[in-house]
Amino acid sequence: MVTGKCALCLFDRPLIQSHYLPAALYRLVRNRDPEGKIVQTEGSSSALSTFEFKTPLLCAECEKRFSKGGEEYTLHNCYRKEGQFALQTALQSMGQPVHFSPSVSLYKTAGSALIQTDKLVYFAASVFWRSSVYLWRTSRGLFVNRSELGPYQENLRRYLLGESPFPDLAVMLVNVSSRPRPMMNMFTLPVGKRIERHHMFIFAIPGVDFTLFVGPRIPASCFLSCTHHSPEKYVGFMDNDSYFVPTLLNRLKDATPKGKLVKDHEVWLNKMSDLP
Ligand SMILES: [Zn+2]
Repeated sequence: MVTGKCALCLFDRPLIQSHYLPAALYRLVRNRDPEGKIVQTEGSSSALSTFEFKTPLLCAECEKRFSKGGEEYTLHNCYRKEGQFALQTALQSMGQPVHFSPSVSLYKTAGSALIQTDKLVYFAASVFWRSSVYLWRTSRGLFVNRSELGPYQENLRRYLLGESPFPDLAVMLVNVSSRPRPMMNMFTLPVGKRIERHHMFIFAIPGVDFTLFVGPRIPASCFLSCTHHSPEKYVGFMDNDSYFVPTLLNRLKDATPKGKLVKDHEVWLNKMSDLP
């Protein structure tokens, strides 16, 4: 076991293999394939792969902190299979949502025991932070997009460690799909872009999109719908599927299949395109 400085608590400790996205998410997605393989796109090619992003990043205590702080809850309540999507079921029992944008309605979850927004926000923050704190590489050694959080990286570290509240100048939007079979067998790593004078980062797991805004000039409308800052603890309900689905499907169609995927490319595309 490697000993080094844990990226979260900053103590010198034995470090364990920490995942970028939780091991439980890989298990959830792999369960659909008899051989436990998933299609990974990398650059302009795609292949069946058992690769998982992991590196000695955190000590055992901090790994446990992430797991208990939000990972277990989020992975248990996201879309797992048809008829098993606890977050969606909970939102649908919460009365009338507020119309927010052409594609998203907001459900007030404050005061409800059915949804633990603090855990959803913590989980998402931990993924964005992991995207910022380490330069992750694919199985072929290519660097993936890093979420450049600037000073918010340290703010989030302290929040994740329980030393300070969620940053004032950050907004987290949690958006749940209304589809019965959302996002199928897909998840994404965080991607980001600069929008005028703030930054936006987003990633998706089955059935749920997470968006983080950071910067001193985030529009007030974002704070109104923020799952953390809004007094209503709003959770979004997407009229359609994840923001990522069209992009991911196009990437899969355009990518050149490699290895064993060559033979089964059509089968996989059909499987992944099978959206209701
Ligand atoms: Zn630690």
